[in-house]
Amino acid sequence: MSQTTAPLTFEVDRRADVRPDAEREAVLANPGFGTHFTDHMVTATWRKGEGWTEGKVTAYGPITLMPSAAVLHYAQEIFEGMKAYRHEDGSIWTFRPEANAARMARSARRMTLPELPEEDFLGSLRALLEVDHAWVPPYDGSEKSLYLRPFMYASEAFLGVRPAAEVTYSVIASPAGAYFTGGLKPIRLWLSKDVSRAGRHGTGAAKCGGNYASSLAGQLEGIEQGCDQAVFLDAETETNIEELGGMNLFFVTRDDKLVTPALTGSILEGVTRDSVLELAKDFGLTPEERAIPVAEWIDGVSSGEVREVFACGTAAVITPVGELVWAGGSAPSTAGEGGGEVTRAIRQRLLDLQYGRADDTRGWLT
Ligand code: PMP
Repeated sequence: MSQTTAPLTFEVDRRADVRPDAEREAVLANPGFGTHFTDHMVTATWRKGEGWTEGKVTAYGPITLMPSAAVLHYAQEIFEGMKAYRHEDGSIWTFRPEANAARMARSARRMTLPELPEEDFLGSLRALLEVDHAWVPPYDGSEKSLYLRPFMYASEAFLGVRPAAEVTYSVIASPAGAYFTGGLKPIRLWLSKDVSRAGRHGTGAAKCGGNYASSLAGQLEGIEQGCDQAVFLDAETETNIEELGGMNLFFVTRDDKLVTPALTGSILEGVTRDSVLELAKDFGLTPEERAIPVAEWIDGVSSGEVREVFACGTAAVITPVGELVWAGGSAPSTAGEGGGEVTRAIRQRLLDLQYGRADDTRGWLT
């Protein structure tokens, strides 16, 4: 459903209220995650036969949608998640935004939404960052950032089941604090056996809202068992590890392999996952993408074959994984108090790249 139109321009509505400096600074001192939003938002509209138009930057605020808007009934919706980082010299950078643009285009194809050209995706981020640059937290050596949330949904008012003929694209931004305050803490994971997140030929590889809705029951089950998050298995054989509800998984083996589940079509292709695979060689590790039976994890932590387990994603960068728990059993943690040596080293390298403390030899920063 791609269409060639001229690049979008994003007109700024200068009437938008900008909150006072003191209010913004109070938020940036302690941003938390996902509760505070910047002064502006980006929107653009797509219509069948017309393509993308009406790019604008307006005040952050409620959207008007008919109760019959298709997204509210058939969940034709996708999104992205990424961050803007302030470097010590005050400049603002994003990390591999083209990878997010490409993933959003893949998600759009799967959900029969129109593709937003990479240039418009990047332009929309730039437009929002230009007006709301003061909302990117100052560089202070902690891990604060401005989380960017591009999303696209079927805004057409129509109850027939077919791809919408009118679609809205939007970007909002939310200042984010350090994921870990008070040191890296290994997460305790629940093995979700009764709830699957995605199935064969389903939408698991697309970043669509429905995947998150379907994972919540598994997450909740885990939380009720004292876990932080749930691990999902492949729905077909229920033997191979896929991912968490919002992060990919990695295993460091005794013989220095860095193993992660292969992309089967039901796993989200994380930008952090791809970056970690690429960085593996810098740490003398051999990256490996393949099927990983959950038994390999359980047996491996006991035999010493699995040295470290970690999860990765934009929000938490790299998180050490501790104990794995299921109904009637558990596999012990190898993470110690603050995660294993490899987990911490890769995490530090990624942060150093994102915050401009390491040489960006791969050209990952924009
Ligand atoms: N898996 C899922 C299901 C996710 O939602 C995310 C977060 N986008 C990830 C993995 C990690 O992806 P990324 O590294 O691009 O944030």
